[in-house]
Amino acid sequence: MCVGLRYKTGDYLAVYPIAPDDEVDRLLSALGWQGKASVPLLISALEGCVAVSKVPSPTSANAIFRYYVDICGPVARDSVKDLAQFAPTPDARNLLLTLGKNKDAYHAFTNKNYVTLGRLLSLAAPGVVWKDLPLSYLLETMPATQPRCYSIASSSIISARRLAITVGVEKRPLVEEPSTEIKGLTTNYLLALANSVQKIGVVPSYQLSGPAGALEGHKIYAAIRRSKFKLPTLPITPIIMIAAGTGMAAFRGFIQERARLKSIGKPVGPMVLFFGCRNPEEDYLYRQELEEARDELGGVFEIVTAFSRVSEHERQYVQDAIRRKAKEFCELLDQDASLYICGRASMAREVSKTIRDGLVAQKGWDQAQLRRWTDSMKRGNKWLEDVWG
Ligand SMILES: Cc1cc2nc3c(=O)[nH]c(=O)nc-3n(C[C@H](O)[C@H](O)[C@H](O)COP(=O)(O)OP(=O)(O)OC[C@H]3O[C@@H](n4cnc5c(N)ncnc54)[C@H](O)[C@@H]3O)c2cc1C
Repeated sequence: MCVGLRYKTGDYLAVYPIAPDDEVDRLLSALGWQGKASVPLLISALEGCVAVSKVPSPTSANAIFRYYVDICGPVARDSVKDLAQFAPTPDARNLLLTLGKNKDAYHAFTNKNYVTLGRLLSLAAPGVVWKDLPLSYLLETMPATQPRCYSIASSSIISARRLAITVGVEKRPLVEEPSTEIKGLTTNYLLALANSVQKIGVVPSYQLSGPAGALEGHKIYAAIRRSKFKLPTLPITPIIMIAAGTGMAAFRGFIQERARLKSIGKPVGPMVLFFGCRNPEEDYLYRQELEEARDELGGVFEIVTAFSRVSEHERQYVQDAIRRKAKEFCELLDQDASLYICGRASMAREVSKTIRDGLVAQKGWDQAQLRRWTDSMKRGNKWLEDVWG
């Protein structure tokens, strides 16, 4: 990805998504706005109204739903109840009131149906236009589209103006209809963009050229977000990196940076990467690059893997790999290693617990000693986590 942004190794890229065409069309159609979707609209605030900050003016219904308000996320129970006042039929009104007031009914409905605003309106009143639901109400009450953060997977000392991100495409099966996939907004948008570069068609489709063609030429709206997830100031300081899946992203930048420093004669401290994925043939991200870096770094860089889906082998997760290496792990910490964990929150929880248990076992610490040590590591930015989900 090539963008004119300045970043530092370990920063994030915040990506602004675009809603897919089918969701925009579904909502416009439920509102009866298809014929006037591109009509210019001037947006001005009534007293106490916050809607204006979400969208530029003039704009259009098409642009509002595509770029500025989030029409793809789940619709909260309170919002479902509030929409009942605009229902075009008594049945739709009753359904929305029931879902809005009854938690169990809402959960049963969302387990069975893929719910976005447009889908909800057409499920509640199939084929009927919601002519009493004003655009101004949606603008006022719907959340603005939020950017999603991605760890930058390149080093700023090697590639200052061209950065990389590593994106896992989100698809979650609907609980009671597993053949229906609920697609993550930003990751599927980025997939469509990547496919368009390679001229591969993709469903759903997106207006990738952006508002008034501003994103023509495979551009995206994005910004750099500064992070504290940084390499130690001294390259000689040992580092322990722990990741599963796309959590590898930031460490790719770290490893590239240290390999470059070593290649120009700087002394580089020991580095261990604990990496977990399903299967080395499927999702071992950057395997070749990592193995080349290990060879270049000659002995200071170790990769410890754990695979959870290799047939006829016991499932291994990244915390199991840490357990296997508990003694070496503690020795590195004794040498003042900085500790980094990156990936899903569930993985980070398991890993943190394994590290704590390992320290208690290796050092014979009690809980108070353990707490003092972890607190001081975290305060000193020696234990850093980038977690999500
Ligand atoms: C500091 C940080 C760094 C990160 N780095 C990376 C990284 O390097 N690589 C990476 O891949 N990710 C990273 N992430 C996660 C990333 O920011 C996104 O959260 C992730 O990619 C999903 O975004 P999305 O827009 O595709 O999914 P979203 O649209 O936000 O959806 C999230 C989940 O909700 C479900 N969902 C969406 N809409 C609905 C609906 N209407 N009803 C029910 N369920 C729904 C989706 O199926 C999905 O499982 C990072 C996060 C943080 C905070």
